[in-house]
Amino acid sequence: MRRPFVAGNWKMNTTLAGGQQLAAAIAAEVGSSTTVDVAVCPPFPYLTAVKQSLGSSSVGLGAQNAYFAKSGAFTGEVAVGMLKEIGCNWVVLGHSERRQFFGDTDELINKKINAVLAEELGVIFCVGELLAERQSNQTEAVLDKQLTGGLAGIDAAHMAKIVIAYEPVWAIGTGVTASPAQAESAHLFIRQWLAKRYNQGVADGVRIQYGGSVKADNAQELLSQPNVDGALVGGASLTAEQFLPIIRAAVQVAGSK
Ligand code: PEP
Repeated sequence: MRRPFVAGNWKMNTTLAGGQQLAAAIAAEVGSSTTVDVAVCPPFPYLTAVKQSLGSSSVGLGAQNAYFAKSGAFTGEVAVGMLKEIGCNWVVLGHSERRQFFGDTDELINKKINAVLAEELGVIFCVGELLAERQSNQTEAVLDKQLTGGLAGIDAAHMAKIVIAYEPVWAIGTGVTASPAQAESAHLFIRQWLAKRYNQGVADGVRIQYGGSVKADNAQELLSQPNVDGALVGGASLTAEQFLPIIRAAVQVAGSK
């Protein structure tokens, strides 16, 4: 059974104090429970403080990006080793905003994934199609290209450290959510892709999160889909009032799937 995984991507939001309060509220809710994996991904400058606010809870800490080199003259970049040193467990890679605004290509994402795996941290690897690509029936071709490029050269053993987030770009931050059927269909495609590229064991083990306007009122239905193993949440991860019900929905689903 795949343990549901709910992660909050705070993007370039919150203040230091607000982030600490939010993290403390999530930690208080989750405590040491491991029914569902929960992680928060604050902006880089807040990682250390948020880590402290998470205390001894089981809530994981994720970074929203990393660079592939270990160190050197890369102004403005952050190495995976640095993230590991301050207690990060996860790195989000391939987010559509990185692809769209910062030129992250499949090849670059692949190098970053390898760098994260080399430090033995977990990867949340985002894939997903644009609206025009969905409308022209390119969804599966786009997912195939992103998965093939992002996971190039990565062997089956390393897939244990990778979570895939299916995030249709047209649903991110728009308030438009993929229907449960649309999400399930894309997740099933990804799982079948993993079975072909690796083997059934890898396909059965890799968690596939859905991301795109997940909210308290749609989480349960999305998370109940057989191949939806959690959520990567943007906007609704920014307040405890909105994020905690999503965690609770995942806990309920974990008990019934
Ligand atoms: C995201 O950016 O990963 C995301 C899913 O955002 P939102 O939940 O705001 O659509």
